[in-house]
Amino acid sequence: MSKFVFVTGGVSSSLGKGLTAASLGRLLKSRGLRVTMCKLDPYINVDPGTMNPGEHGEVFVTDDGGETDLDLGHYERFIDEALNRNSNTTTGSIYSSVIAKERRGDYLGKTVQVIPHVTDEIKDRIKRLSSEDTDVVIVEIGGTVGDIEIVPFIEAIRQFRRDVGPTNVCYVHLTLVPYLAANGEQKTKPTQHSVTELRSRGIQPHVIVCRSDQPITDGLKRKISLLCDVPIEGVISAIDARSIYEIPLVLHEEGLDTYVCATLDLDVSERPIDLGIWESLVDRVDASDRTVRIGIVGKYVSMPDAYLSVAEAVRHAGFEYRTRVELHWIDAELVPDHVGEERLCALDGIIVPGGFGERGVEGMVAAAGIARRCEIPYLGICLGLQVAVVEIARNLAGLEGANSTEIDATTPHPVIALMAEQTEVVDKGGTMRLGAYPAMLDAGSQIAKLYGTEVVSERHRHRYEFNARYRHRLEDAGLRCSGSSPDGRLVEFIELPEHPYLVGTQAHPEFKSRPDRPHPLFLGLVDAALQRAEGRDPHLLDVAALG
Ligand code: GLN
Repeated sequence: MSKFVFVTGGVSSSLGKGLTAASLGRLLKSRGLRVTMCKLDPYINVDPGTMNPGEHGEVFVTDDGGETDLDLGHYERFIDEALNRNSNTTTGSIYSSVIAKERRGDYLGKTVQVIPHVTDEIKDRIKRLSSEDTDVVIVEIGGTVGDIEIVPFIEAIRQFRRDVGPTNVCYVHLTLVPYLAANGEQKTKPTQHSVTELRSRGIQPHVIVCRSDQPITDGLKRKISLLCDVPIEGVISAIDARSIYEIPLVLHEEGLDTYVCATLDLDVSERPIDLGIWESLVDRVDASDRTVRIGIVGKYVSMPDAYLSVAEAVRHAGFEYRTRVELHWIDAELVPDHVGEERLCALDGIIVPGGFGERGVEGMVAAAGIARRCEIPYLGICLGLQVAVVEIARNLAGLEGANSTEIDATTPHPVIALMAEQTEVVDKGGTMRLGAYPAMLDAGSQIAKLYGTEVVSERHRHRYEFNARYRHRLEDAGLRCSGSSPDGRLVEFIELPEHPYLVGTQAHPEFKSRPDRPHPLFLGLVDAALQRAEGRDPHLLDVAALG
């Protein structure tokens, strides 16, 4: 049976619980343990798919089409394992299944209650992650102890230890140790209060990870240890790291993984840690001696978490080239009137990421046009492909008024449309294409060279598609459709051969980028951006050759 680590948070939200959990996952994996992870979210939405990314951050899509919390992106990037929809559970999904069971008569005769029915459902969701092939399941509980919504989750994980036995469970609690400048002291009181809250629910943490901007002194660790009844080795100082990828190394130095293994009865002497890959990654992060400026033109730019995986993916490509990526967040609604050609031309590359709805789309079309005319490297992701197609249709193919039917239902040239509209099927159910789909790349295309293969699989999340009825007219105008679905019906990738790098994908490649294995399309963008930055002649680099 697997062992379980539960990560809770106290004092404040946004302390980096997801990154702490993901870093622990990386450390355990680096000890040869097989790790999986999951996030329990106390909100009532059944999944985050319907939540505004401007408030909640991006929706991370798994291979099986799960629309999940952005923390799953951290998990995948750190532990380098593909997760699935079972790796994210919300209060809404728990209640949906409890209520469905009640209607089916599964609890016949019983009063259905939070304890035991909701807590049992939560425990079942956790238990189903355990398997023969998994040594440790790390479960992050969203929210902060003391929140009303979190109580059933805390109760479920309390019971869990009784169910599976004390040596199979480790509770890790993340808190904040603030520094008060007025008296020059770090304060432990908030930590004491949040541990008291946790204990009032029956959970005694094994580990307290203290977030702070300065190292926690040994004296302070002793105080926390005494007052919170945690051995001193279980008090971990987690200071702000220079890069998120350094966090596993910081936590390892503090002995986090050693101590967690000890509480789980896992003999560390049998499992020496190998952090080689991670250390060389962090060396590459530190070794950036060049800079490229990449503009991200979107509508949620005031909330960069809305594009978290895109930002990480472009940074990963920067690590490979030892290049610092300077991200410029550009509000699509300001293009081109307030952010025009001159401003965009000062960039070395432009990304138009995914998005839904009309707002800002004309600005994105304008940005794609400026990127095309001024030869600025451009990567269009999902909506970013669609706006590039619209722009090329209008300005290279002469299709006046061309648009996506999402933006203009009465456009004379629906170059992007729902599949149903393209095939004239009446039902516009508008279900999303979600999750991993294979695509075949056109041999010899720039994109096939970048991937180094002709069959790829990427994750999707969209309703609209390139309209095949316009394919020939757009190809005649210079567009290359460089990848399609295996049946040839859906255009999945485009490029503009005469341009240094104008590439679009209907998928979301950012979800599959790893810090030590950047995604080819982002490598292509950063390489082209570097060439622009350094005034080199743009030429196609075969990234596959980088190994
Ligand atoms: N709104 C577009 C569609 O549904 C693009 C979606 C996206 O960028 N993820 O097709």
